[in-house]
Amino acid sequence: MPHLPRIVVLATGGTIAGASSNPASSAHYQAATVPVASLLAAVPALNSVARIEAEQVAQVDSKDMSFSLWSTLAARVVHWSAQADVAGIVITHGTDTLEETAMALHLSLPCAVPVVLTAAMRPSTSLSADGPLNLLDAVRVASHPDAAGKGVLVVLNQQIHAARDVTKAHTSAVDAFVSPLAGPLGFVQDDYARFAHAPARQAHAVMPMPASWPEVEIVASYAQPGRVAIDAMVAAGVRGLVVAAAGNGSIHETLAEALVDANSAGVAVVRSSRTGAGHVAFPAVPRPADGLFVSAADLNPYKARVLLAMALANEPGLAADPARLQAVFAGA
Ligand code: ASP
Repeated sequence: MPHLPRIVVLATGGTIAGASSNPASSAHYQAATVPVASLLAAVPALNSVARIEAEQVAQVDSKDMSFSLWSTLAARVVHWSAQADVAGIVITHGTDTLEETAMALHLSLPCAVPVVLTAAMRPSTSLSADGPLNLLDAVRVASHPDAAGKGVLVVLNQQIHAARDVTKAHTSAVDAFVSPLAGPLGFVQDDYARFAHAPARQAHAVMPMPASWPEVEIVASYAQPGRVAIDAMVAAGVRGLVVAAAGNGSIHETLAEALVDANSAGVAVVRSSRTGAGHVAFPAVPRPADGLFVSAADLNPYKARVLLAMALANEPGLAADPARLQAVFAGA
């Protein structure tokens, strides 16, 4: 038996750890119930790929993800990756907010070893459950020599994605995860994993995981919106707002007026797009007074919210400096 790499699996719950009394149902099940030891035992092939150690960090449905769990998870990754012979970390997660956790870890972790998130669209008891293969593929990628130095990775449905680019784009299909602009970084086929290209942006520990997070919320632009929600959030002390704007960052004039007022009151405003793909054009100079708010570049509203909250936590003055905040989004 060749010397196998040591891989640590950190389990957080999700549908990959879900179970149902009806194997034919993909809708009626309980997420986050199956312990990590059982998930590993269901995939004997793991033992020919790596020496696995596992830790049950949490057991949650990822719809209920929290900042405190992100901090715990990041601390466990740092703990395990500091051990000299750990070759990589795999994190099992729910699919609903996987892209947000991946983004937060991507921005904050030094990634001394590969960190790979995986999940499943179908519960572990389902007919054609996708979790076992996703777990095996994630361990293969975490053990792969080319996986180092590419930031946090996400492996599902035989594809390898960059944490910054990947998003969940389907309610139930096993190919729900896509990277709309960049495409996947590579693929896994049986025991063969290959990276086709490197991520264009590598954010290694751009900013630390905040000890306390400012209130940052998302608002959407659509036909005839009201401004009541924005005004209420400003009155409640929100520190940043991400707009899920129409098209290429277009904001209804009623919302734009409310957002200009919000910005005058010290709230950072960032324009993302509700379209699901594409880059929101950078204003030559972000001029909030004219409704030209900072562009989220190609980050969707949920990832933009993670970056904005982390940026404001680390540098509260960014709210009053749109040019510097734009530079943060341009570079992340
Ligand atoms: N609600 C589940 C979760 O995110 C869905 C899934 O994992 O697919 O934990």
